[in-house]
Amino acid sequence: MVTQYKNLIGGKMVETGRWMDVINPANEQVIGQVPVCGKDELDEAVAAARAAFKTWKNTPIEERRAAIMAISGAIKENAEELYRLLTSEQGKPHEQARGEIYGAAGMAAAQSTLSLEEEIVQDDDTRLMRVRRVPVGVVGGIVPWNFPVMMAIQKIVPAMLSGCTIVLKPSPFTPLTTLRIAELIAAKVPAGVVNIITGEDDLGPMITSHPDIDKITFTGSTATGKKIMEGASADLKRITLELGGNDASIVLPDADPKKVAEQLFWSSFSNAGQICVAAKRVYIHEDIYDELSAAIVEYAKTVKVGDGSEQGTGVGPIQNRKQYERVIELIEDAKANGYKFLLGGDVDPSGTGFYVPITILDNPPEDARIVAEEQFGPVMPLMKFSSEEEVIARANNTEYGLAGAVWTGDPERGVKIAEQLETGTVWINEYLHLSPFAPFGGHKQSGFGAEYGKEGLKEFTYPQVITVRRDNVPA
Ligand code: NAD
Repeated sequence: MVTQYKNLIGGKMVETGRWMDVINPANEQVIGQVPVCGKDELDEAVAAARAAFKTWKNTPIEERRAAIMAISGAIKENAEELYRLLTSEQGKPHEQARGEIYGAAGMAAAQSTLSLEEEIVQDDDTRLMRVRRVPVGVVGGIVPWNFPVMMAIQKIVPAMLSGCTIVLKPSPFTPLTTLRIAELIAAKVPAGVVNIITGEDDLGPMITSHPDIDKITFTGSTATGKKIMEGASADLKRITLELGGNDASIVLPDADPKKVAEQLFWSSFSNAGQICVAAKRVYIHEDIYDELSAAIVEYAKTVKVGDGSEQGTGVGPIQNRKQYERVIELIEDAKANGYKFLLGGDVDPSGTGFYVPITILDNPPEDARIVAEEQFGPVMPLMKFSSEEEVIARANNTEYGLAGAVWTGDPERGVKIAEQLETGTVWINEYLHLSPFAPFGGHKQSGFGAEYGKEGLKEFTYPQVITVRRDNVPA
């Protein structure tokens, strides 16, 4: 019998009597079952969060920090077990799963040090005017399947720190590690402050429209983000949306191909390309295009695609069948249009496991689906450009605006280009680096609001202005 993982509601690990299967994308075997929650269980979780909010919002910040540190500690102490479980449900190689687990523990600890100080805007004989931040209330957190643990933590921690309570829903594809963490923290966090529930496709919309949830913090696709915004409008819930991206990497002619090839490779292929901020369009200056594309392909040939639990695997399977079929569709479309492949492109859909070979395309046109759409798979289109003006226009020619990168021997020149890109984050000579102290969020249709940093924390609060008139005391 497979292991059954319970939900966390009101401080207790509970089940519903209805179960759904979770599979390992490397071999399509069922590796666990999780409860299917419906309206009644959601109501119970929201009621537990609402009851806990009454005391949690007035709990001193030091105690809230201590509870967050207990979560961080529990994750770190059990990292070995957790990263193996994460690989088995998500597919990412052990080393990358390890990075996510330790990264989540570190992110929780670092974010717990943030605070929102009161602001005094007037303090004179006439009046004292203070702006304080008060928690919005009960938060609904909804997360995707690509970084299930990191995403859960980046919703739970700022909610707790600000004084909110939360009902979190993992993706039905990757709930196991999150529920194991729920079990580990159940006794370490006051009952009802953190609730974690699982369910099928109807649970997300039920959370979004629940009348006693005050805010939704969501990470996922732009299409779902739009539905959430619509659902949240009924009672004007506060929302934070972290959505899709089609990030451009721009390689200037002064970048040494030998120094950037490997880094560019991993900026596209980490987590099998299933990262919102992966490099999904790589623009290389024509002077170095041939040399750099050859160096990337050379390096790519040394990377093993396979089961993430096997030693030496660099790129694991696609996380689920739907995404696997979407990536195949984009590759088939590229073939049908006669675009040139430098590597990969031949998928065998009859095999077991959702494997897509490392696929690199040679200068496909800008309007190719595999360039214009978010691939979210191990696919890297390399494109030639000749002038800075041209490449900036091409990079910005998308509805997305999440992140981007510039690779150059002259960082100042990189900054000048970065300032013209319409994205929330731009890296010069690095990739995928996020800080707990800097806001992360998308421009255009890549998001609404931000996570991380004080700006992210503020989104869990309302400003409240208290004014005391000093020269008009009626006594
Ligand atoms: P998704 O939008 O399909 O699902 C995300 C979550 O929303 C899941 O938990 C799902 O069950 C739930 N959901 C689905 N429909 C819903 C609805 N109508 N109402 C409420 N909830 C609903 O996304 P996904 O396929 O799991 O994840 C991949 C996408 O996430 C990609 O587009 C990727 O770029 C994006 N992403 C963005 C970031 C970021 O920080 N900007 C990070 C990771 C992933």
